Amino acid sequence: SPITPAVTHAEGVRVRPIPRVIGADVPVPLRNGGHVSYANLDYAASAPCLEAVHEAVIRALPYYSSVHRGAGYASQVTTGAYEKARETVRTFLGAWRRSAVVFTRNTTDSMNLLAHAVPAGTSVVVFETEHHASLLPWKRAVRLPAPATPAEAVSAADRALRESPIGSRLLVVTAASNVTGELWPLAELAQVAHRNGARIAVDAAQLVPHRPVDMTALGLDYVAFSGHKLYAPFGAGVLAGRADWLRAAGPYLKGGGASASVGETTHWAPSAEQRHEAGSPNVLGVIALAAACDTLSAAWEAVAAREEHLVQRLRSGLAALPHVRELTLWGDRAPRVGIVSFAVDGWTARDVALALSDEHGIGVRDGKFCAHPFVRHLLDGDGTAVRASLGLGTTAEHIDRLLAALTELTSR
Ligand code: PLP
Repeated sequence: SPITPAVTHAEGVRVRPIPRVIGADVPVPLRNGGHVSYANLDYAASAPCLEAVHEAVIRALPYYSSVHRGAGYASQVTTGAYEKARETVRTFLGAWRRSAVVFTRNTTDSMNLLAHAVPAGTSVVVFETEHHASLLPWKRAVRLPAPATPAEAVSAADRALRESPIGSRLLVVTAASNVTGELWPLAELAQVAHRNGARIAVDAAQLVPHRPVDMTALGLDYVAFSGHKLYAPFGAGVLAGRADWLRAAGPYLKGGGASASVGETTHWAPSAEQRHEAGSPNVLGVIALAAACDTLSAAWEAVAAREEHLVQRLRSGLAALPHVRELTLWGDRAPRVGIVSFAVDGWTARDVALALSDEHGIGVRDGKFCAHPFVRHLLDGDGTAVRASLGLGTTAEHIDRLLAALTELTSR
């Protein structure tokens, strides 16, 4: 198997095995007519499904049914599984017991739901380094330039929030960059937000597949993430956080489920979850997402240790290549997850990505990664980059294959 079965720590304590993904060694065709096992280095776009997720869906399928509105046994079972998934997500995020956990389609949907729910006149502060999903949904936002250090991020947020008009305030920030993998100082940002009477909303799309989050310990008011980046299928995501703004806002979508009673006037459901989950929800997607949360929660130590080792191997290998430049905001030593972007002298990112795929069976992403202002900042102007991102099915062989392929490409 390409997947390391277990990790043994220095102290000799054996920790749980690394959860297995489906399709980690699927064969892919090469331009020369041969085949090779796929080196998937594009986990930051979407991660393959976990075997445990597949099993959870298989277990749910016999009772697959509509939730909340049916009295039949299958409907009761599925409703139970759907609501249990909400509790699983709450625990996974370390969310406060009374916070809302709303199921959405993905992070983009979650951020748009939050933008819909913020009280009119809220001052929103975002960094230009955000993914577009967190940069664009706000009606008006103060955009802060890319900070030179994490400390500068905190002081810039502090200043911008302090200077915001009186009224509700919201700081929006990404937990782990989808471009550089760098981790943002969430606890410190939450502190300055709260000191200035603001709330903090965190785009955790790229954090939750790699590290645990504890909303309560970090003081995060909202967290958004996507199931498809967390080893579950497309189409289910989460917005978790304070319920009051969500309960006060009109429904995100109007329809069945969101309404408590409909006559001449419509009364909307009082709970944040019901109000903003109109229509038949993505039951299987939610069950799958919760299974991924459970599986990862049981394996964090092993997952983080293994990734640390692989990302080191990748970064030191890239650093040794003379024509390759890694993009970082805060330098080599900033803490990060397994996401690494780089530019290759004399090559367009698209040509590198296509050569890696067609000649070596390596899947990477190229472009601006839906973070145009940030990539422009990192490249000092227009341009594109290549991104290699790691996950549970990544092996040292995949990394070595990428490094060997880049060595070969840049010596042509
Ligand atoms: N936020 C970050 C940091 C991301 O990396 C992504 C996806 O690439 C998104 C948001 C958007 O996720 P989705 O397309 O699942 O809505």
